[in-house]
Amino acid sequence: MSGTETLERTAPQKAGGAQKAEHFDVLVVGAGISGIGAAYHLKTQCPGKSFAVLEKKETFGGTWVQHTYPGIRSDSDLFTFGYRFKPWTGAPIASAEEIRTYMEEVIEENDLGGAIRYGHEILSAKWSSEENLWTVEARKVETGEPQRFTTNFLWMCQGYYRHEKGYTPDWPDMDKFKGKIVHPQHWPEDLDYEGKRVVVIGSGATAATLVPAIADKTAHVTMLQRSPTYFIPGRNANELADELRKLDVDEAWIHEITRRKILFDQQEFARRAWEEPEEVKEELLAGVKEFLGPDFDIKKHFTPSYRPWRQRVAFVPDGDIFQGIASGKASVVTDEIERFTEKGILLKSGEELEADIIVTATGFDLCVMGDIKFEVDGKPLDFADTVTYRGMMFTGVPNLLWVFGYFRASWTLRVDLMGDFVARLLKHMDQKGAKKVTVALRPEDKDMEILPWIDPEDFNPGYLMRSMHLLPKRGTKRDWQHTQDYWKEKDELPQIDLDDAAFVYE
Ligand SMILES: Cc1cc2nc3c(=O)[nH]c(=O)nc-3n(C[C@H](O)[C@H](O)[C@H](O)COP(=O)(O)OP(=O)(O)OC[C@H]3O[C@@H](n4cnc5c(N)ncnc54)[C@H](O)[C@@H]3O)c2cc1C
Repeated sequence: MSGTETLERTAPQKAGGAQKAEHFDVLVVGAGISGIGAAYHLKTQCPGKSFAVLEKKETFGGTWVQHTYPGIRSDSDLFTFGYRFKPWTGAPIASAEEIRTYMEEVIEENDLGGAIRYGHEILSAKWSSEENLWTVEARKVETGEPQRFTTNFLWMCQGYYRHEKGYTPDWPDMDKFKGKIVHPQHWPEDLDYEGKRVVVIGSGATAATLVPAIADKTAHVTMLQRSPTYFIPGRNANELADELRKLDVDEAWIHEITRRKILFDQQEFARRAWEEPEEVKEELLAGVKEFLGPDFDIKKHFTPSYRPWRQRVAFVPDGDIFQGIASGKASVVTDEIERFTEKGILLKSGEELEADIIVTATGFDLCVMGDIKFEVDGKPLDFADTVTYRGMMFTGVPNLLWVFGYFRASWTLRVDLMGDFVARLLKHMDQKGAKKVTVALRPEDKDMEILPWIDPEDFNPGYLMRSMHLLPKRGTKRDWQHTQDYWKEKDELPQIDLDDAAFVYE
């Protein structure tokens, strides 16, 4: 059956008669960079499987359509944030629009459009071991009309944070502030910041992008941070790719060679950050000093207390945020918020920052599995009660895989690895005549210590720390954790023995 053909099934309905359900061999949840990658891999690697992508928004892009704040761009390079199968031909750091254009080309070139159902919000997914099927209840966003689907396999590409609502801490007296409070996840199209005093709370990649992007138009923009972040300033160009292009090398080769070089360099950086954190820290700080000069208080404003790589290190093209600070259009304040006032923000130091607009670039609200209500054989499923197999499957949850990307490498690298894995797993099931696969702890895993999803010593961004209790658990063995180590996983995942006792087939 082709990717867009469907079977109609009549599935039982809770109240009242029977509602028609459309059936697909595989249902992909979400049309962000993960979901479009999943569709590509299904189409190219599993041509016999029917599939559909259900997406709540009216368009593809996920993160790259949700965020529309000025300057919105990637913080990792597009040679690796792009898929392995489609060469990236632009500058390494790309705008949201460029990323969307790239995704649009993937959809068009591979004729994936017909498989994507936009405006479909998935509300629940119930597994029946009797039928070996997931029944998925969705709702057409525009009309509220209920839609029912059945599928053999759920491929979760819903991302990791709630798009509807960004995370804003509850500071005292926020309601007293007379100006506007904006979260960058919901940037108002008509927000007029020309000639205004803007305070951006936060110092992550979003703040670092936003501050230089609006600095010229504002009266002044202040980045207010509780604690500093590491940045890597550099030219938004890849010398190797440019050199290969001069030699007229084929773009597919340039893509592959540049990816390998970037990944090689990143692996080295991660190793050094772990083994010689002080040296790496000094190098990163030296990069900042070059822009801000010897008199700037780098220690206070740009020297994090944690060692490099415990949180994402954002690449800053052309050091633009530092240029903004050096020019006087932007400034950085490192302090804590006491409370909001009518005029702005009162800091713990006693200083008051006056503002017309306050932007809360304070991060995400983690959301596990797209806020979908899951049931397995009539029992509500809490993913926090499961243990993950390699960060992609979960004990007691049949026929389901989640794409949770890498932090220290581009998210999308994992999309391609998961694509190969799902294709291999589905083929293996067909060969065995199996309708159901569930991962389960093996006898030798029974005494393994069960721990939270990720080790905070290893990686500890706020959105994960706030919501770790909602995420599946990990074990102490590599098989039972999301190792976040692309460099090992690229070799390990294709070697997974699908007949290992961790995979239970029925
Ligand atoms: C501003 C910003 C910059 C970033 N930059 C980088 C970067 O440079 N490099 C990097 O590696 N990572 C980056 N990230 C992380 C980024 O989110 C991921 O890399 C990647 O874009 C996630 O893609 P995704 O498709 O998995 O999820 P998302 O982009 O979150 O897309 C998920 C899709 O699923 C849909 N969905 C969710 N729940 C449901 C439901 N119940 N029913 C139907 N549809 C649903 C959503 O509407 C959405 O379209 C960035 C994140 C942000 C916010």
